[in-house]
Amino acid sequence: MEKVALLGLGIMGTGMANNLLKAGFALTVWNRTLAKAEPLHAQGAQAASTPREAVADADVVISMVGDDQASRSVWTGENGALAGAKAGTVLVECSTLSPEWIRELATLASKQGCQLLDSPVMGSKGAAADASLKLLVGGDAAALERARPVLEKISAQITYFGRSGDGAVMKLINNMMAAVHIAALSEGITLAERSGMNMEHVIATILNGATASSIVKGKMDRMLAHKYDDTEFALRWMEKDMSYAVELATDLGLPLSTVKGAKHVFDLAHEKGLAESDWSAAIEGLRS
Ligand code: NAP
Repeated sequence: MEKVALLGLGIMGTGMANNLLKAGFALTVWNRTLAKAEPLHAQGAQAASTPREAVADADVVISMVGDDQASRSVWTGENGALAGAKAGTVLVECSTLSPEWIRELATLASKQGCQLLDSPVMGSKGAAADASLKLLVGGDAAALERARPVLEKISAQITYFGRSGDGAVMKLINNMMAAVHIAALSEGITLAERSGMNMEHVIATILNGATASSIVKGKMDRMLAHKYDDTEFALRWMEKDMSYAVELATDLGLPLSTVKGAKHVFDLAHEKGLAESDWSAAIEGLRS
């Protein structure tokens, strides 16, 4: 059975690691804040003190960290994973990152004799915990087949997009559209609140209407209850995803005006101290 290393034990990485352990893989984990590895260690995972140490024996390495800066540090830092991975290892970057960084990382990986798959995930904390993530994969097809037995244990669906970086682009498209839904819902609810409307009727009308996407349905209750602790997906990570999408689109000559508008709504909530809260807190930037 494949030996697997998983780097990054945040909301998502922890659920993924638990599923890999349950599936019986020999698992080594690493997290910047080392204490977060203790529960997994208690259940049988090896806990490494650096990414380099974590990947030394691995056939497949999965990374699940915050942003480009975190990924760069995990892979290329002084004790980074690239320095420790043996030739032939399949490296799977599951974090939501810029396609520009993914392509640079793919080149660095191939210089080490390794192959990188970008495999960002659709689905949140619950899907990471119950292995129902949907993976959006770019990179070498043969490398995907090698990693597939591992990836199948953390996911319900794997879609192969082909070129390195295309999984990352698909993920940004998904998240920028999700952010626009939440920004529009935030504006709709706050406009109704300020107009003094009967909110029960407003909410029922939205939920029964054509704009009731699964995102809108999923986040409505939190927004009405002003309940943003127990974060599923941090507001600051959604701001990051919109920034990467806008950077990519700018390079391609596309304005992405609605995404920039949505980002402004999220930024207002960030300024109110809600960066680490669940991203449904976007509405609080508009509430007085
Ligand atoms: P999270 O709970 O905030 O965890 C972030 C992880 O990144 C932690 O392990 C953190 O380590 C690590 N990290 C941050 N900065 C670092 C650095 N400079 N060097 C090394 N490690 C660093 O985030 P998450 O929700 O699990 O999300 C992880 C990734 O998945 C992100 O790219 C996010 O956009 C994406 N994603 C999230 C969701 C979701 O619903 N949550 C869904 C799909 C995709 P520490 O513990 O030491 O802080």
